[in-house]
Amino acid sequence: MTSIASVKPVTIRMHERDNVAIVANDGGLPAGAALPGGPVLREHVPQGHKVALVDIAAGAPVLRYGVAIGHALAGIAAGRWVHERLLQMPEARSLEGLPMATARPPTEEPLTGYTFEGYRNADGSVGTRNILAVTQTVQCVAGVTAFAVQRIKTELLPRYPNVDDVVALEHHYGCGVAIDAPDAVVPIRTLRHLSLNPNFGGEVMVVSLGCEKLQPERLLPPGSVPISDAREGGESGLDVVCLQDEAHVGFMSMVESILRQAEQHLRRLNARRRETVPASELVVGVQCGGSDAFSGATANPAVGFCTDLLVRAGATVMFSETTEVRDGIAQLTARAATPAVAEALVREMAWYDAYLARGRVDRSANTTPGNKKGGLANIVEKAMGSIVKSGSMPITGVLAPGEKLAPNQRGLVYAATPASDFICGTLQMAAGMNLHVFTTGRGTPYGLAAVPVIKVATRSDLARRWHDLMDVNAGRIADGPATIEDVGWELFRLMLEVASGRKQTWAERWKLHNALALFNPAPVT
Ligand code: CA
Repeated sequence: MTSIASVKPVTIRMHERDNVAIVANDGGLPAGAALPGGPVLREHVPQGHKVALVDIAAGAPVLRYGVAIGHALAGIAAGRWVHERLLQMPEARSLEGLPMATARPPTEEPLTGYTFEGYRNADGSVGTRNILAVTQTVQCVAGVTAFAVQRIKTELLPRYPNVDDVVALEHHYGCGVAIDAPDAVVPIRTLRHLSLNPNFGGEVMVVSLGCEKLQPERLLPPGSVPISDAREGGESGLDVVCLQDEAHVGFMSMVESILRQAEQHLRRLNARRRETVPASELVVGVQCGGSDAFSGATANPAVGFCTDLLVRAGATVMFSETTEVRDGIAQLTARAATPAVAEALVREMAWYDAYLARGRVDRSANTTPGNKKGGLANIVEKAMGSIVKSGSMPITGVLAPGEKLAPNQRGLVYAATPASDFICGTLQMAAGMNLHVFTTGRGTPYGLAAVPVIKVATRSDLARRWHDLMDVNAGRIADGPATIEDVGWELFRLMLEVASGRKQTWAERWKLHNALALFNPAPVT
């Protein structure tokens, strides 16, 4: 336990209305510590947890970010630890009577002159990596595909030095599912759009079993795959290796087929070169995971500042995680660029409310034991900290889960996804993300195989301990030496370096990546 004399108390208060602040000191603060201009602590308050700045009466709102994150279940004296057990969580805001596209957007100058080196695709999109993806219709083929991909990496890839990697798009869908259920559209279009991610250069090859429900033509109907002049494929332009094809005699014959097809795509990918493109070609997905009370005070505001820079530069930024924005829906609908965008936001929230209600839970099922240990009392507090990743610009578009950005769609887009790190990342990748930013306070080694993930630590303690996993330390904002603007600009510049392939993220360097995880709200059979 720290002695009272040796430590200078540092607390973070987010809004002038707030009647609580969070303790920033490593290890928390002991009883007896006097807050500058505030009360003396009546008990030990752990790092990231809230302290009452004034006496809070029973039933009165506990205010952080200027909003009620709960109501006191009993009187809380100034200097007490405002523990989650002392709070009654508010009801979710009704989706009726919301302010629709009412906010006046900030007038910010366009940001010009920033570029990166990317791979221009035939459809106009730009890749930040040059990767061969092997699409699979069904989980049944995953083992064979993984075997073949291993051989492609060791035997073929060295001959195609301009290709960064070969990635198998493994998933658990494709059969044993109610494929005609209305909600099956979500996993099917997610898989289709994953294959078309800008980092795969428009080269689509598919491994199919043969008897599965999700037939290749259903996954990628004619017209969904761009046909390059050089493609030798059949009329549909779809290149499929079917394992049950009678021509295959034995396992090795299947593997050789996959290798033979892969080589055609590798040859074309290898001919590509990076070219200078404007920063407006970035398609950045932002999300957070393993959040703590610092997330909303350091890393997420820095990401929000960077989001504004990107939007000013003409780029696309997607924010997501429906349960983590639900409590801020009135802010979002107000910030919608048009009433139609506001209505689309409400539609996605209502759909998700109903989805959760079917499982007899609500948004409060989101928070984890680690969130609470990190000081987040409930989903309202978590949401207020999460939503700031979206910055301050008008919201110009909304995607339903698994939908893809329209060609040339730019600006700030709400891509509706669950908050699950893996599902959110997968859906943002399907939407067309070419760079991913991930903030964490508790710490997670999260990564994706096909899109670089820049990880931002909310606390310096985490950044120090995980020095070879975290790419940016936003904890310096709480410690004092850096401002939100400093870290926002640092992140922006790092994005251009990473997008250009001049820098690898730690997750890329160690080849840490998580599985793709589909969102399947439809029944399985
Ligand atoms: Ca998340």
